[in-house]
Amino acid sequence: MDAIAVAQQTLTQKGYLDLEVDPTLDLFEEINRLKKEKNAIILAHYYQEPDIQDIADYIGDSLGLSREAANTDADIIVFAGVHFMAETAKMLSPQKKVLLPDLKAGCSLADSAPAPLFKKFLEKYPDHVVVSYVNCSAELKTLTDICCTSTNAVDVINSIPLDQKIIFAPDKNLGAYLIKKTGRDMVLWNGACMVHEIFSNEKITKLMLRHPHAEFIAHPECEEHILAKASYIGSTTGLLKYTQKSPAKEFIVATEAGILHQMQKASPDKVFIPAPPENNCACNECPYMRLNTLEKLYLCMKHELPEIILPDWVIQQGRVCIDRMLEISQKAGHIH
Ligand code: SF4
Repeated sequence: MDAIAVAQQTLTQKGYLDLEVDPTLDLFEEINRLKKEKNAIILAHYYQEPDIQDIADYIGDSLGLSREAANTDADIIVFAGVHFMAETAKMLSPQKKVLLPDLKAGCSLADSAPAPLFKKFLEKYPDHVVVSYVNCSAELKTLTDICCTSTNAVDVINSIPLDQKIIFAPDKNLGAYLIKKTGRDMVLWNGACMVHEIFSNEKITKLMLRHPHAEFIAHPECEEHILAKASYIGSTTGLLKYTQKSPAKEFIVATEAGILHQMQKASPDKVFIPAPPENNCACNECPYMRLNTLEKLYLCMKHELPEIILPDWVIQQGRVCIDRMLEISQKAGHIH
């Protein structure tokens, strides 16, 4: 059996094509060649490693990536991000081939809301509208009325009539932030992101004392006591834009450390310090996002595997909540 056939056999177990890559290859050149040859587009999340961000055709957060996935005329979408994002791309462009370099690039937040358990939970709240953060599985989206991202979540909640009861899933931290922001009383599912939940209050306080002129900015997936310290709270794109327009020269950033690459590129004269987590690391990286590497990206483009496949009913039902979100986002001016 040749190497590719063996790699295909172990694909489900390993999550990626376990093949040797010639170390003398210029992977940037090869990936660019494959992009042209196959009419492929690489969509990368801000939390990907810098090399992947640099070779991507589009870098963004969940909302931007969804819009790109819906609008692209490429034949193949190579999604450098995590599984639920690639699933969302497949739902928005079902006729296209969607590839993910490593199928095991999951998400602790999406995993914290398994669809069968969530379905049972919904039975207790029959008269509620379900709003889900886009960080959830395709199956969970089939149980959702309106999806949202951290960019458009406030607009999504505000679009719902005041007398309508709401369930928000799966992120309890973003949910608590939205309750505060919109004044709406929502039932929250008890899920969280492992990256945004482990920022250390104590270490951040010390860092702020050491850098008295630095602005502390945070993503709304962080816990309430961390958000309380922040002078700006926003989505990944929101944080990036904020650092460009703020007169501050130093920032302590509480979200996945991958975004610092774009912040530094956009403002080379400013200093960006990743907010430290509770563990011994100096910065906070998502272990799932980091499963994608340049080698895996190259192999998945070359062999067009692993591919995201979803049942038709999941695509049809799951897409409805994403389309509603895009419509609200457009009206609110977040996308054009
Ligand atoms: S940073 Fe958190 S929410 Fe984002 S993919 Fe990783 S685990 Fe999921």
